[in-house]
Amino acid sequence: MRVVVASTNEGKVREIRHVLEPLGWDVVRAADLGAEALEVEETGSTFLENALLKARAYAEHFGCVALADDSGLEVDALGGAPGVRSARYAGEPSDDAANNAKLLAELADVPAGERTARFRCVVALVWPDGRVLAADGVCEGAIGFEPRGSGGFGYDPLFWPAAAPGRTMAELSPAEKSAISHRGSALRALRAALEQGAPADG
Ligand code: IMP
Repeated sequence: MRVVVASTNEGKVREIRHVLEPLGWDVVRAADLGAEALEVEETGSTFLENALLKARAYAEHFGCVALADDSGLEVDALGGAPGVRSARYAGEPSDDAANNAKLLAELADVPAGERTARFRCVVALVWPDGRVLAADGVCEGAIGFEPRGSGGFGYDPLFWPAAAPGRTMAELSPAEKSAISHRGSALRALRAALEQGAPADG
């Protein structure tokens, strides 16, 4: 099955391919179809709303199944921020280095034991006939005091996943990250639901 990914974030597309291509899915981006990426405004107040906004726009435009991911970081000491604003935490345009610098500044006075956080991800598949299938994933961890590692993207150099003690997310290989990440979990849940025959209705 061909699925167009509603994202230009190479980090995300790589992780989506890593989980879905072994199943024989043909994962393509708008650029692979000779098209520009769509500008979809993320006006939702939840990850699910934003994932559906993006996937619906792509399914309608390209006339094939579309997959969108909406994800972000929730930091307990910041009341769940940056949350759905994670990509643009330090303002427009989205800038990973600026976002990480802002996060470290906001947490400057927060001690090690109180820097707990989690990544959340919702993935949504939308068919051109309107059927929808969504799944979510969570990755618990904590925010460090300085960036470490060069893998992944976004907040990975600051995020110490509980499931990989002693390393930041940016120090994991793509396969290691996929095995524990919010996106890997969400995609595996989506795959399991598909294997069980979802979505059932039109
Ligand atoms: P989205 O494109 O609105 O889903 O933005 C998600 C933002 O959350 C990204 O730009 C990153 O800042 C952050 N984020 C989501 N997933 C990850 C991840 O796996 N690692 C690091 N940062 C992430």
